[in-house]
Amino acid sequence: MGSLERMLAGVEKVIGKEHVLADNNVRDAYSVNMLSVDNIRPSAVVLPKSVEEIQGILKLANEHKVPVWTLSQGQNRGYGMACATKPGTVILDLKRMNKILEVNTDLAYALVEPGVTFGQLYTYLKDNNIPLWMDVPSATPDASYLGNITERGAGYTPLGEKFLFSCGMEVVLASGQILRTGTGALPNSKTWQVFKWGYGPYLDGLFTQSNYGVVTKAGFWLMPKPPAYEPLAVVMDQPDAVYRAVEILRPLKLNMVIPNGACVTHIRKALGLTASWGQSRDILPKVGRRFDYSPAVVDELKKAYNLGEWNFAGALYGLPETVRAYRKIVEDAFSAAVPGCRFLTAEEQAASPYWRAREMAMRGEPIWDYDQSDWVGKSGALWISPVAPATNEAVEQQIRIAEETYHKYGFHYAAELILGTGRDLHHIIWLLFDRSDAEERQRADLCVKEMHDRYCAVGYLPYRTSVSTGDHLMRKLGPFRDICREIKRVFDPNNILSPGKSGIDLSED
Ligand SMILES: Cc1cc2nc3c(=O)[nH]c(=O)nc-3n(C[C@H](O)[C@H](O)[C@H](O)COP(=O)(O)OP(=O)(O)OC[C@H]3O[C@@H](n4cnc5c(N)ncnc54)[C@H](O)[C@@H]3O)c2cc1C
Repeated sequence: MGSLERMLAGVEKVIGKEHVLADNNVRDAYSVNMLSVDNIRPSAVVLPKSVEEIQGILKLANEHKVPVWTLSQGQNRGYGMACATKPGTVILDLKRMNKILEVNTDLAYALVEPGVTFGQLYTYLKDNNIPLWMDVPSATPDASYLGNITERGAGYTPLGEKFLFSCGMEVVLASGQILRTGTGALPNSKTWQVFKWGYGPYLDGLFTQSNYGVVTKAGFWLMPKPPAYEPLAVVMDQPDAVYRAVEILRPLKLNMVIPNGACVTHIRKALGLTASWGQSRDILPKVGRRFDYSPAVVDELKKAYNLGEWNFAGALYGLPETVRAYRKIVEDAFSAAVPGCRFLTAEEQAASPYWRAREMAMRGEPIWDYDQSDWVGKSGALWISPVAPATNEAVEQQIRIAEETYHKYGFHYAAELILGTGRDLHHIIWLLFDRSDAEERQRADLCVKEMHDRYCAVGYLPYRTSVSTGDHLMRKLGPFRDICREIKRVFDPNNILSPGKSGIDLSED
């Protein structure tokens, strides 16, 4: 028996044989990703149900020096799905740990286990008539809230910067030791989910985009359902509208007129999302899988779905009087700066799958129509996500780099710019390609790496990347990479937890 077999035999005793899966079908299912690299096949999948079971698995992984890759729901679409960085890793899938441990209505927070999905939490709030809204990504309702926090994902409500609004974690370290962060360090803490910083060093960040521990509980804040909510949908048809929009949106965000993760979306991305958010699958044959459509088709689709070259979605929350007043401020600002822009009515928004989904996401309702069928295994889809300062010069430079690089490799620019705090923009650039075409896949691979190279060369670091490009990106960070590896040596000297996550891997030079 090799070390893997010995480890799995031990794990069967800890979590039960039925929760250790090593047959080919399961390994195939977990190997699928949408990246420009091959499928990445794990050696097995183990599904613990408790912290104690995780401790038992990590003890065996250390003993037999077998790496395990943690995931919560494995819906990391466009960044790696459920895949590890390397084939042969054991997947530690936490989806069976799916308890909503607490929702506090008065203090507006929740505490959950890793497997709790956006859909599950939404349904729980609704079924129990809890007047709180959560944040959601524009991905599937089957993704996990906790996984999105550990990835520092972005959403569309005022709580869109999910890690910023997280509060308190429980982590199992590679040694099996349990760490509670923030005020949770005090065994009888009464403030774990209400006060972020605790006492002493703030450690939560160490367990995001890293491989220093297995997060087994996370707290985060929710928002009270506001008395008034108004989604704003602005269609802008001039190619330069995005630069004008950024200049007016910065002060509107900084002054908290628009409090949410508002975004400006390019037509190709709006159409791609229209297709992946269901109900409009019929536009796929027209647009192809690579955004290859003629100007005439784009015009037709713009009319059909009430879209422009650029599309702004933001929302106002508060009292009816404040929302009314703020709406006028936003309307005046757009009308002055972006001639010809159109504010859609509620009826027009409801008639377009794109705007309907935006409206739902900005009040924290998952996008139920999300169409998974077309993505898994068939088409290549990955994200390049540089952050820009919220200025038109920076956005112009970033879009130019993307257009030049995409053109060089034969792709078409498609992106959205999410306004974070008002100071930064997440420039989420979509690369769609045909995974079954080896030549196209190679072009996609070169394109992604060149995009990272060019953005980093002029000072723009992506906020997140995929399992296949983590090392490429981390190697640009000099002493930061060295220190991440030093921390890894302290927390996980045998390198058993998610080696290669964010390019942190003790087996690499
Ligand atoms: C059309 C589309 C739209 C999308 N929109 C968004 C969006 O708006 N915002 C956004 O952020 N993303 C978006 N995504 C990307 C992705 O689908 C989401 O981020 C999704 O939430 C990630 O899946 P998950 O939550 O199941 O995470 P997982 O796949 O479970 O986890 C992701 C990674 O986090 C780490 N991790 C997970 N759990 C733990 C743990 N317990 N302990 C330690 N580390 C852990 C692991 O490295 C893991 O690989 C989108 C994708 C698509 C295709």
